[in-house]
Amino acid sequence: DWIDVTDVVQSAVERTRKHAPGHIIETSIATDLPLIRGDSVLISQVLFNLLDNAIKYGGREPVNVYARREGKDVIISVTDLGKGIPPEDLDRIFEKFYRRGNPDGRAPGTGLGLSIARGFIEAMGGKIHAESPALKKRGTRIVMQFPGSEEAKGSA
Ligand code: ATP
Ligand code: MG
Repeated sequence: DWIDVTDVVQSAVERTRKHAPGHIIETSIATDLPLIRGDSVLISQVLFNLLDNAIKYGGREPVNVYARREGKDVIISVTDLGKGIPPEDLDRIFEKFYRRGNPDGRAPGTGLGLSIARGFIEAMGGKIHAESPALKKRGTRIVMQFPGSEEAKGSA
């Protein structure tokens, strides 16, 4: 099915706000997004997991969710301002059960979230990767890319 990313992002953000009240989540969703082909429930679940990570590992600063168009594709990203991830671990975090230390014991998890996320996204024809600005040693961005329809929504 062709789905509207705007609704999916908004529902995942609402769910996260209920799950983590008091944490600021800012959204910036372009109005010219093409529709994408995928399962809205799965994408929403993935986004909820990315937001959960951003809150768990990202410290107290606001988390940002962006959705924008890039050619025919739709890019959705979740950015936090936490400690970030060293370059050698940027791909390993998508491995099953991989977790990067947990010194203060306050961030429990199974290490499955991102490997499941990658499986879902790739099954829908999309891609997912992590970026962390090595220079500033601060912040993580998880970027998803989906092939979009020819037409922007509403323009057909
Ligand atoms: P689960 O999601 O299954 O409850 P988890 O959060 O540990 O457990 P993943 O979501 O797969 O598992 O993440 C794997 C590891 O990647 C995490 O343990 C953490 O070390 C690192 N990680 C994920 N997201 C971030 C982030 N936003 N900032 C810093 N590190 C992160
Ligand atoms: Mg997780």
